[in-house]
Amino acid sequence: MTARYTIGIDLGGTNIKGGVCDRRQTLLTRHAIETQAELGCEHVLERMARLVDDLLQQTNLSKAQIAGIGVGAPGPLSHAQGMIYHAPNLPGFVAVPLRDRFAKATGLPVVLENDANAAAYGEFTAGAGKDVRNMVMLTLGTGIGGGIVLDGKLWRGRYDNAGEIGHTVIVPDGRACPCGQRGCLERYASANAIAERLREAVAAGENSVLKPKITANEPFDARDVLQAAEQGDALAARIWDETCYYLALSVVNVRHLLNPELVVFAGGLINAGPRLLDPVKEHLERLSWKIAPDAPRIALATLGTDAGTIGAAALAMS
Ligand SMILES: [Zn+2]
Repeated sequence: MTARYTIGIDLGGTNIKGGVCDRRQTLLTRHAIETQAELGCEHVLERMARLVDDLLQQTNLSKAQIAGIGVGAPGPLSHAQGMIYHAPNLPGFVAVPLRDRFAKATGLPVVLENDANAAAYGEFTAGAGKDVRNMVMLTLGTGIGGGIVLDGKLWRGRYDNAGEIGHTVIVPDGRACPCGQRGCLERYASANAIAERLREAVAAGENSVLKPKITANEPFDARDVLQAAEQGDALAARIWDETCYYLALSVVNVRHLLNPELVVFAGGLINAGPRLLDPVKEHLERLSWKIAPDAPRIALATLGTDAGTIGAAALAMS
């Protein structure tokens, strides 16, 4: 029997998502279970194996029909060694040889990939980037992840850490980042950073319609900041616009460093749609050079939360 299918797994701190893809990266089925990360590494590996069994059952496929499993996981990790060095959202995942252990547990070949890379590869194979050969993706969520595809291949770098665009420095000596640097893009343009910057501005004496929420210590997020901006709140509007400015600066840097055809924005923040994309494009037009027509197209991701699963499955095929 020919192995025509692959399984993609997206290992997260809350849920483990999985799917079965055919050779054309069509997602035949998807399924998700709770990670139960607090129960430790062994337990999570068992959950992953169970998810594989569930997926086989859903599709009525046997293991002999599966060419391999791709696992997208939080890092830092080593693709080459199949090792998760340290995953802060997964207790006990320190120096775990996940690839080999999961291969032993399932009896199938396994490839391990950084989750942001897997998502970028998913968009490249089946989403916003399926018609290009060179693309860079920025995933704008609680943090900022990145992935680079050059000439059709994921670019991992010497230490498998390429594409960490969230930790490129956008403001010299700027806001402190948990990574140890200052001024990282993630500290300005992630969903968390947007809410945090507004909170800090209010604490420093500026006014906003969100001030009562902040004073009452009620939760609010980037969506509230955007909504306030649209209702005419000057502080929220400034912070949203600054966010788009920082993203545009990053695209300028990416453009000149890699000259991709396409830059894709993904993650929760893209629910803002044109309210994110249009101001980023306006800033880009102002900031970019005009001496050569080599600007990348900017697009929003199309696969949503399936990108990581599809990308992992595609990497298992390749
Ligand atoms: Zn950083």
